[in-house]
Amino acid sequence: MEESLIYPLPNRAWLDLSATALRRNATELQRRTGLPLIPMVKANAYGVGSAGVVSALESLDPLAYGVASVDEGESLREMGIARTIIIFTPILQADYERAQAADLTAALGDAAGIRSWAPTGKPYHLAIDTGMNRAGVSWRDVATVRDVVREWPPAGAFTHFHSAEIEDGSAEEQVNRFFSAIGQLGVEIPFLHADNSAAAARGVGGGERWGAIRPGVFLYGVGSRFGVRAEPVVSLRARVVDIRWIEAGDTVSYGATYRATRRERIATAAVGYGDGYPRALSDRSAAVLNGSRVPQRGLVTMDMTMFDVTDAPCAVGDVVTLIGAEGGPELLVEGVAALAGMSPYELLTGLAPRLERRFNED
Ligand SMILES: *Cc1c(COP(=O)(O)O)cnc(C)c1O
Repeated sequence: MEESLIYPLPNRAWLDLSATALRRNATELQRRTGLPLIPMVKANAYGVGSAGVVSALESLDPLAYGVASVDEGESLREMGIARTIIIFTPILQADYERAQAADLTAALGDAAGIRSWAPTGKPYHLAIDTGMNRAGVSWRDVATVRDVVREWPPAGAFTHFHSAEIEDGSAEEQVNRFFSAIGQLGVEIPFLHADNSAAAARGVGGGERWGAIRPGVFLYGVGSRFGVRAEPVVSLRARVVDIRWIEAGDTVSYGATYRATRRERIATAAVGYGDGYPRALSDRSAAVLNGSRVPQRGLVTMDMTMFDVTDAPCAVGDVVTLIGAEGGPELLVEGVAALAGMSPYELLTGLAPRLERRFNED
């Protein structure tokens, strides 16, 4: 195709990622809360690709990055990131040495862990659980860490909301529990943080008590409540690699779940659940091809997915958009995830490594 000579696109399936939208989403939350950023880039930046995400966000001068493991922290260091990197999932003491060698900041929530980590002088943040019941010292049990925290004060302390996207008072209750726990410690902790994307959008933790926000999913284009809308960042695209006519009564894909009721033109896109396009979308999703909505037909397979292009102009080599802003709300990450019975987080983090990540400045 001529176009591909001018603008070489991958030949199979890929992600088009808007670095500009990513930055605009980050600055929007920063503007709303008036707080500095700790972008959450765990799980390969929610599947988007941490190398590209971090290099797009560096110009915003974030306070730190949030990861989930020593490996993720080390790989940011290998990219040349010199900022604070906080590991938000508890790590085993067996990994402390490796974490400290990479200058990573641990989130700690028990006296033994703090006693083992802190004497080296490396910073840690105190994790306080206020209702999530996942990690960190319970707000009810902060007395168990009071002595070690007084001996080796943390560089920061934080909690995490379980339902920030719901206005049911639970986030406010968690904030109260957090400050009561901080009060019981009786130590000056210079830096407190709590807001995830939904809390930052809603303004739960705004104000001078807080030092930063920790958004994740909103940066990557998910979130359209509380008077703010994340700009789409992620588009999943693939090439059409086969086109055929089928007759009424013919079936498509494994298990013959789709049976044509008319003569139909079927296009095969070179993308499947092996790329993270969920099999649960089989016989229910649609894509956009040359400006037309094309319904998906038959089971999504590992490497190929079929579409009805009877009413759309289509040639081998054309580009199908399976996730992205093109198709209106139904092709947005949230819409596709809902159709698959998944959370948007799950859809994003499932985007497979074999998809080339193409970051664009637009
Ligand atoms: C993942 C995570 C976040 C970000 O949550 P989003 O809902 O994606 O904004 C913030 N804080 C912690 C501790 C997390 O694990």
